[in-house]
Amino acid sequence: MQFYSTNSQNIKVGLKEAVLKGLAEDNGLYMPEQIPVLPESFFNDIANKSLQEIGYEVLKPFFTPDIPEDKFKELVDDALDFEIPVVKVSDKKYALELFHGPTLAFKDVGARFMARILSSFVCGQEKDINILVATSGDTGSAVANGFYKVPGINVFVLYPKGLVSEVQEKQFTTLGENITAIEVDGTFDDCQRMVKQAFLDKELNEKMVLTSANSINLARLLPQSIYYHHAYAQMRKNGIKDDVVMCVPSGNFGNITAGLIAQLMGLPVKRFIAATNINDIVPKYLESGQYNPAPSKATIANAMDVGDPSNFVRILDLYDAEHKVVTEKMEGYSYTDEQIRATLKRVDSDEAYVLDPHGATGYMALEEGLKEGESGVFLETAHPTKFPEVVEPEIGRSLEVPERLQAFMKGERKSVQMDTTLENLKDFLLK
Ligand SMILES: *Cc1c(COP(=O)(O)O)cnc(C)c1O
Repeated sequence: MQFYSTNSQNIKVGLKEAVLKGLAEDNGLYMPEQIPVLPESFFNDIANKSLQEIGYEVLKPFFTPDIPEDKFKELVDDALDFEIPVVKVSDKKYALELFHGPTLAFKDVGARFMARILSSFVCGQEKDINILVATSGDTGSAVANGFYKVPGINVFVLYPKGLVSEVQEKQFTTLGENITAIEVDGTFDDCQRMVKQAFLDKELNEKMVLTSANSINLARLLPQSIYYHHAYAQMRKNGIKDDVVMCVPSGNFGNITAGLIAQLMGLPVKRFIAATNINDIVPKYLESGQYNPAPSKATIANAMDVGDPSNFVRILDLYDAEHKVVTEKMEGYSYTDEQIRATLKRVDSDEAYVLDPHGATGYMALEEGLKEGESGVFLETAHPTKFPEVVEPEIGRSLEVPERLQAFMKGERKSVQMDTTLENLKDFLLK
């Protein structure tokens, strides 16, 4: 399959180039030339399929034969080695628990895929591949862990000083080896801008192979479609076939884009709901048709503190930038820290379910948006123990920390200090 740039249909590249480059040369984001529609038989039988079977069938049209079919099948099995269950939280509301991977967040899925897809392309390259990634928390840990010790790949994680939780920080600053953490004296948007500038810098690109692992990379984005199909399969097992609404806590809007792609592949999702914190650029766009990016504001759901969501252009691209069509496909709601806190407390006491701050926005948006006769699945994007400072005071007790998190907390934190200029980042990378 070919992939075009959101800025120009004339720029078309193959899978390998799209994955290695991340961003198109005209600064656009790559999109698949076609979105294949899966046969009806696939959906009729979906409740009988395993996560791995669904994963292979959903991704095959995008990734094979560029990656040979048998090799790709192994890759899918290996990347999806943890479960993604749907759990009933309250009447008509279900959580898709995406936090059973190595770093307890949904970004594990995309990162594990991307590491394996890239490493299938590394053979035959002379130079190392350098991954630059900006993180507001969870991307860094998922990417660092997904790529840890993968031969021929170096990872540089840029993160905003003081704006990432201690647990998140530990997950990418303690690994060492091929993983370097860069602590930037600025915001997440600064980190993201520096990464974007580095990709466009001539000198850097002449001297080293740079690629991105942010949600702009297709090797991360497309695999996220899998779990929407898998969630639907589990709803079918629960006897629910129609009027399924999916609700996605959103920051850079990569996750929900993957859901919209799943729907275009034929997945019978009735509608999507985007839930945000007070960084409500997209809900405002849905309301008014005006897209007005703004500096990001810090919240307790900090992995969604994004003031100019990078995947928004992909959503526009999917629907030819027709506001009316976009609003038919998705609605949006935003919530304050206060509302998030109250929901953590209420859902723990009423439903005996511990949400994380991001999932809490999704739960609230389902409460607000779900109509008579509909059932809703919200994405629980991270495990609550990743945010103990926020969650524990609300539920009034401490949470048991899963073993794989405890192991990180024991490691020694190492990072490089940096200001927000491209010059210093360049100097460091070229050294
Ligand atoms: C990254 C992240 C999000 C937002 O996902 P996007 O794809 O950027 O919209 C939501 N919740 C958690 C826990 C995250 O780490």
